[in-house]
Amino acid sequence: MLDREDLSRELEADLRSGGVFAVYQPLIEVATGVLVGVEGLCRWRRSHGPEIGPDVFIPVAESTGLIHELGRFMLDECLAALDRWRGAGRQIEVSVNVSPLQLTDATFAADLAAKMIERASTPPALTIEITESLPLRHLDEIVPRLEELRAIDVGVSLDDFGSGNASVAQFQLLPLTEVKFDRSLIQSGSASAKEELRDAADRARELGLRTVAEGVETPAHLELARELGCDRAQGFLLGAPMLVAEMDAVLRR
Ligand code: C2E
Ligand code: CA
Ligand code: CA
Repeated sequence: MLDREDLSRELEADLRSGGVFAVYQPLIEVATGVLVGVEGLCRWRRSHGPEIGPDVFIPVAESTGLIHELGRFMLDECLAALDRWRGAGRQIEVSVNVSPLQLTDATFAADLAAKMIERASTPPALTIEITESLPLRHLDEIVPRLEELRAIDVGVSLDDFGSGNASVAQFQLLPLTEVKFDRSLIQSGSASAKEELRDAADRARELGLRTVAEGVETPAHLELARELGCDRAQGFLLGAPMLVAEMDAVLRR
């Protein structure tokens, strides 16, 4: 059995030799059905051994600090793809998951700003997604970092809302532009989940935040997103994560 250190070393080697890559999942505007953005998700093609998903290898990378290099790689990949799509005339946006650990790096925002200036063509079309489990922990450290990102026109999305114990009160504690409702809430079907979603959607609207329904797998889930007034929806019904070449083809259509 590989331990965390072994696994992280293997991931590090593969990251440096091209075994780590991004896939892209469509974000659809609910009102029009138009593809308006994509979320970049990390994949690891292991040189040996069974496939491991990001829900497993991201925590490993966090535990050893490799997440900083992995996170920079994902931002580079996603910004490069964004540039190409925009260069080809597509009004598309990109969202990238960022670990709370990356935000504890004091130069995170400055490094990202430098990357964006390097790509002079990149208009404000990048959103970073942070999970709702983090903010309560290092709030003092993270809020100023997020404010620096907002100052350079990077959007900030609260991911997985409803999967843990975040409350709508948090919407105001963080300098957010978007809230994503976790698939557990969207798919639940229970009256209490709908109530929680309605509350959260109303509060988000009052604060001028964009809302995204995650885990849309059925027409009923999409209908719920519409009912809630969600701006965007994401899920297997609308498009699974795909390789960049496949996304290129989708965007050419
Ligand atoms: P997430 O940010 O909530 O990403 C959405 C996850 O839900 C993705 O899993 C996606 O494939 C999956 N998904 C999308 N639509 C549906 C659907 O309709 N039904 C179901 N059942 N699932 C759906 P994935 O790619 O395995 O990623 C898992 C988690 O790993 C992500 O959850 C995110 O927290 C983390 N992650 C992935 N890539 C990165 C990364 O580059 N950096 C960081 N820090 N975390 C990442
Ligand atoms: Ca996400
Ligand atoms: Ca999510």
